[in-house]
Amino acid sequence: MKFATKAVHAGVEPDPSTGAIMTPIYQTSTYVQASPGNHQGYEYARTQNPTRDALQASIAALENGQFGFCFSSGLGAIDTVIKLLNPNDEVVACNDLYGGTYRLFRRVFEKYGIKFHFVPMDNAENIRTYMNKNTKLVWIETPTNPLLNIIDIQEVANISREFGALLAVDNTFASPYLQTPLDLGADIVMHSVTKYIGGHSDVIMGALVMNKEDLAQQFAFLQNACGAVPAPQDCFLVLRGIKTLHLRMEAHCKNGEKIVNYKIVNYLINHPKIDKVWHPGLPTHPNHDIAKKQMKGFGGMLSFTLKDDSIEQAIRVMESFKLFSLAESLGGVESLCGHPATMTHASIPKAEREKAGLKDSLIRLSIGIEDADDLIADLEQALAQIHISLPN
Ligand SMILES: *Cc1c(COP(=O)(O)O)cnc(C)c1O
Repeated sequence: MKFATKAVHAGVEPDPSTGAIMTPIYQTSTYVQASPGNHQGYEYARTQNPTRDALQASIAALENGQFGFCFSSGLGAIDTVIKLLNPNDEVVACNDLYGGTYRLFRRVFEKYGIKFHFVPMDNAENIRTYMNKNTKLVWIETPTNPLLNIIDIQEVANISREFGALLAVDNTFASPYLQTPLDLGADIVMHSVTKYIGGHSDVIMGALVMNKEDLAQQFAFLQNACGAVPAPQDCFLVLRGIKTLHLRMEAHCKNGEKIVNYKIVNYLINHPKIDKVWHPGLPTHPNHDIAKKQMKGFGGMLSFTLKDDSIEQAIRVMESFKLFSLAESLGGVESLCGHPATMTHASIPKAEREKAGLKDSLIRLSIGIEDADDLIADLEQALAQIHISLPN
């Protein structure tokens, strides 16, 4: 089945008791048994819930995977992956991770004796230096936040396999519509469903998808044993959101490209008040070729810095936006803007932040599915609020 058909139908069957075309919200904690052990496959709702089952099957299908598991947040899903490991195991992760993932690795799991290496992976070969017989997991994110770095999934998968390590890919920024890491050799795909898959800024949820049955058995065990499961109403909302995932992603991509190349090619780069622009679709993006190879489109995330690089100027632009809402998160139908230096990456000292390329004026946009002309007009009027004081 093609993606659009799966988005509408995968995992969802008419409800057996009524024929309801929409999977009901099974808002129940338990299921009645005729006699002990004589039940219909459902015993207790932490372990199984029909609304969750439908969603798990749907997300698995979208990622071209056999098995799917949903969790109460993206971090709940990542937490479950790390619980596959034992003390003295090592993890090689990309250095440019979602802040919450980095915090979970360093501040929660290091004290259980798991060792994490954070490695720049713009060249996949870099990881060889850190791989050894204790390396059990390689963890990557691509595109990354907020500079949209791209990692070659296939190359990292090949090296991981050589060392007998599992490869997990956080596919949140791409969504399964743009990129399916299992097809490129990854063992586990992770999503913050909160973002593009949910798509409507109304649910916090995570998911894992895999093809290997032994892995699926371990995740089924951990999902039940640790208990970070999503609620049925949230599963329903995400099932509903998924039905338009392909349409939304097309709109996000189209708007992203339109804004980057409005009226003239590279409009944004040539804007007198903008210094640099990060978008995987730009031929100047350092890993544009890898993005072209492994992604079906370039997504709706883009970041830029101002010629006049200061926190004040960035805040001025963001406060002037009328359509782009200033908020954490991304991937919803509405456009958002964020300021890494004072929001997601505020805990990193300025010198270190700048070394990683996160300048004070860096603004990240999550381009929604509104009309691109209105978004561009908003961008123009907000940029008009600042005055450049260039050195003469
Ligand atoms: C938001 C996000 C997460 C964490 O997901 P939650 O649903 O907020 O727990 C992990 N990875 C990436 C790339 C994210 O954007």
